[in-house]
Amino acid sequence: RFAYVNGRFVRHGDAVVHIEDRGYQLADGVYEVWAIFDGKLADAEGHFARLWRSLDSLRIAHPMGQAALTCVLREAIRRNMVRDGLVYLQVTRGVARRDHAFPNPAVPPSVVVTAKSTDRALAERKAEQGGAVVSVPENRWGRCDIKSIGLLPNALAKQAARERGAIEAWFVDDLGLVTEGASSNAWIIDAEGHLRTRDTNANILRGVTRSTLFEVIRDAGLPINEKPFTIAEAQSAREAFITGAGTLVLPIVSIDGTKVGDGSPGPVATRLRRLYIERARAKAI
Ligand code: PLP
Repeated sequence: RFAYVNGRFVRHGDAVVHIEDRGYQLADGVYEVWAIFDGKLADAEGHFARLWRSLDSLRIAHPMGQAALTCVLREAIRRNMVRDGLVYLQVTRGVARRDHAFPNPAVPPSVVVTAKSTDRALAERKAEQGGAVVSVPENRWGRCDIKSIGLLPNALAKQAARERGAIEAWFVDDLGLVTEGASSNAWIIDAEGHLRTRDTNANILRGVTRSTLFEVIRDAGLPINEKPFTIAEAQSAREAFITGAGTLVLPIVSIDGTKVGDGSPGPVATRLRRLYIERARAKAI
């Protein structure tokens, strides 16, 4: 396997960054993850747009333009012989002697890219079984719209999920409403048959998979409602599912130990997974 580190490809095992990288010391950086279909980048434009927005929000310089970055991502995919999988990009503010404030003068941002294969057949079998989620209190900062590498609350939430046999944790805010998953957006199909997911004016990540699924849902003529829901509503919903570059569209069959519907993946979520994959595959570049 090969990784890209600051301008060159090196063997994955030899890929290193400096101990005074601000990503390492201060989580002062952002990341993006693209799904790969047939060796191509899914939802490419949406992820690039969010990357530039994340960088601008933190006043980190763009390390290169979109065309150059596309070449690097494609080369990472090619060198790792990935047909189906994920490509990961991380940009940090760079290497400087430790100080909370930004380095002055500025230093070049650090860029790292890795790519890994997914066993799509295994992923499909898992999707046919669906997954469980558990709820955890929302304890993250006020800028979850930025795809920051500061993921400690997400890591702790995901670990709590794993220890309880679940694949994802849903954060629940002070009002008892689900914000999003540790690495995905949360959805239900409510008692009226409406697709429900939280609006992105709140403090959550605007998922690129979520945005593409909006197009799929509109084309399918299904009713959609950007309105948050409680855990109780989700437990009594017709269906539940999550979206993200890693999971695509994945049916949820239990929440905090309570079955959703009959405890098997719902027909709408299953259909939306197929339609999402078809669209993402067709539009991949
Ligand atoms: N919410 C969080 C906290 C995430 O980390 C992610 C993805 O990693 C998502 C939502 C889904 O975003 P996307 O669909 O762009 O992968």
